[in-house]
Amino acid sequence: MTRLRFARWTIGADPARPAPARYASCKECEQCSPVSTILREPDLWALEHAGRTGHREVVSADLIARPAEETS
Ligand SMILES: [Zn+2]
Repeated sequence: MTRLRFARWTIGADPARPAPARYASCKECEQCSPVSTILREPDLWALEHAGRTGHREVVSADLIARPAEETS
């Protein structure tokens, strides 16, 4: 028999998964920095390549949804 109940859920980084991967991409052309789990590397690329034109940061992270009572 299945029982249902109301529960508050949270979503956040999954501590069992690797750190978020980041890269920066130029707003003016198609070039991108190497993908890195270290924030400094895409930032350095962005400063060198796209410092004058602008860039965006793209982050890929594994998230997990859990009942709030499990996270407190
Ligand atoms: Zn560019």
